[in-house]
Amino acid sequence: MGAATCPCQSGRLFRHCCGPFAESPMLSGELPLGPAKTSLRRHLLEMARVSEDMQELWFTCLDHLSESIRSHLERNPTQQALMDHFLWDWFKKYSDARPIVRVARYFDATDLRLANHLDGWGLAPWEPWVVKSYRNGLWRLEHLTSRREIEATATFEHHRWEIGDALLTRILHHAGHDFTGLHVARFPGQSGVRSMQKRWKALGERFRLTSHTRLRPDIHNEFWLALHEDLLEFILENDPKTATLDPELSLNSITVPLEDTVMVKPLPELAGQTPKQAAQNEFGRHRLRKWLETQDALGYDTRQVRHRLGIVEASR
Ligand SMILES: [Zn+2]
Repeated sequence: MGAATCPCQSGRLFRHCCGPFAESPMLSGELPLGPAKTSLRRHLLEMARVSEDMQELWFTCLDHLSESIRSHLERNPTQQALMDHFLWDWFKKYSDARPIVRVARYFDATDLRLANHLDGWGLAPWEPWVVKSYRNGLWRLEHLTSRREIEATATFEHHRWEIGDALLTRILHHAGHDFTGLHVARFPGQSGVRSMQKRWKALGERFRLTSHTRLRPDIHNEFWLALHEDLLEFILENDPKTATLDPELSLNSITVPLEDTVMVKPLPELAGQTPKQAAQNEFGRHRLRKWLETQDALGYDTRQVRHRLGIVEASR
């Protein structure tokens, strides 16, 4: 994967995101929160790695997107929501043809523990939550309709929300803790909660859900895809971008090139100099290297700018 962006779609470089967890042990059983989160991300990483081999399925999924989802994606390409939808919900006819179930099967032969976790997560639907409080790394979330409460930990740092927001996410259970899913769609504040309530009510009427229906792909196979397509559309209409990537590109996403115009922009990190000016002297180049590393970590492709400034890329 080298300098590629992280398969979790954070937009960050792999080595600054899930990469550090690449070689961490895959654990199961009850664990303290920290190791549980590390292990969870390792699992998600393996999942993303294997899904890269399912390009054909991915392209078929893209081909089948409705016109309205397509037009939303053009305006607001929340790639991570689409990836989440693909892995969990997308199938042609049967729930056991869903990509996440295929990924779990792939691991059956080599790592049964991992396969079992992915299999368990495979049952998770997108559900509406309201953020109630935060304490010691745990967010208390209340289900929008059933009022059932859980305490969940944020899986990725690029997912942000505040108390009072509505969220749409899957909950993944791992090593004795609940975590937010691959994608978290945020609907800020009271207006966010209200629009989520409205949409969920309409869906409930359409699919005859009661406030206590616990959605499962094996039980609600008939409308699982339709329900989640509607939710994807809702996310794309409302969710601020998490990563702006072209859905036509492969699952292994690319970095955004750092724009050339930045070279003549005075930057506080360079003591008010432009990158071009800073490149003229040794101390300026030192500052420039640090600044470029930060840009790398933010997921920008700095190669061209480095080349033009004559700053050698840090070893990776
Ligand atoms: Zn990541």
